[in-house]
Amino acid sequence: MTPRDVEALGVIGAGGAGFPTHVKLEGTPDTVIVNAAECEPLLHKDMQVILHHADEVLKGLDAVRAMTGARDAIIGIKDKHEHEIALLTAHAPAGVRVVPIEDVYPAGDEITLIYMTTGRLVQPGALPITAGCLVQNVETLYNIGAGVPVTDKFIAVAGAVERPATIRVPVGVSYAEVLSKFRITAPDYRVRSGGLMMGVLEEDLTHVVSKRTGALIVLPADHYCVTMYRRFMTDHDTDRIAKAGCDQCTFCTELCPRYLLGQPVRPETAMRNRMFTREEQPMLFAGNLSCCECNLCTMYSCPEGLDPRGATVIEKRIAREQKLTWSGPGITVHPMFAYRKVPSRMLKQRLDVLKFADEGPLTDAGIDPAEVRIPLHEHAGAAAEPVVSRGQRVCRGDLIGRARGKISSNIHASIDGVVETLTADHIHIRRD
Ligand code: SF4
Ligand code: SF4
Repeated sequence: MTPRDVEALGVIGAGGAGFPTHVKLEGTPDTVIVNAAECEPLLHKDMQVILHHADEVLKGLDAVRAMTGARDAIIGIKDKHEHEIALLTAHAPAGVRVVPIEDVYPAGDEITLIYMTTGRLVQPGALPITAGCLVQNVETLYNIGAGVPVTDKFIAVAGAVERPATIRVPVGVSYAEVLSKFRITAPDYRVRSGGLMMGVLEEDLTHVVSKRTGALIVLPADHYCVTMYRRFMTDHDTDRIAKAGCDQCTFCTELCPRYLLGQPVRPETAMRNRMFTREEQPMLFAGNLSCCECNLCTMYSCPEGLDPRGATVIEKRIAREQKLTWSGPGITVHPMFAYRKVPSRMLKQRLDVLKFADEGPLTDAGIDPAEVRIPLHEHAGAAAEPVVSRGQRVCRGDLIGRARGKISSNIHASIDGVVETLTADHIHIRRD
């Protein structure tokens, strides 16, 4: 297998960012790290993929090692997953080490995982490859190992549902159709796609599952996670509340996982800059470009219930527009790193989700949609270019959109049917 084969299959990072995988495979790391940390609360998707498809995941890992020439491979997995660790250890080929890590948030952050599994530090603004590492998500490796075009997505459905589960669905099915197969236990509810910490509060359930959707979390409409996210829906909300309430206590920075790894992130400076900045001449701190947007500062650390993550994201955006970069001395780990990790259980308590069943067995939910709307821009980089026309019959697995340029990805039909409409965003296929 070559990176071109991976490109042909339309494999992108299934863990959230959606970066085209073939581009990452052009590096020459000495170590491939499997990101099996799965640290978003209530998600069990990656563990279920390991339990039911370990062969494909390990085959994908083998292929990535062969393509990149990496000498070593590490599977970083939470130490609480004893069964999955035993399974992987029994099946892992020579040169693959299973490395148990603590059950803390955000262990699945690339930079954090690299440090927790290898002890290596990635310098501010640098990519993991500069530390000799290539990080791949479990489902991404599954897709490489399976060796067929990516047409389906594993997602977790959790929260206020009678039977939380991991299910496999065709790309392009609507959230509403997925949720129609679950009994929702809250009379009035909202849905968070992607995860409680790094996902999005969905206002429109006609939105569809893409190759990067990891979860649909159902929450009562008055739940803490809904009201918090509703408070900070716009830049204006974040700005207004920063100006009114931040007392510069610096708890957000002191518990920031990137700051504790020595990165120059300081969310309290982003808050201060929002307080004192003028629109035409914003005050900026380029060190905040190293924020991974884990949301710990907003959802866990800030005692005032403010949104330092939102302020940091605004600062990152303006800093990028102004082409700022961080320069400073090499970094070292903060002496309090070992003592300030946030245990997953504490985070769940803070998020008020201990009351939901924390499980998600792989289940056949019987999702067989009559139509799908497949996004043309579900990956990082340029949108795919449609290669089908209206009225054309397609079969599941057929190429329907071709990667446009180096950082882009192919897309394939996820059901048999006829192309009903083509828009700038989607290819709509209706089953015939
Ligand atoms: S945002 Fe919150 S935690 Fe950070 S300095 Fe302000 S009040 Fe303190
Ligand atoms: S979101 Fe907050 S806690 Fe997370 S890396 Fe960014 S500044 Fe740090």
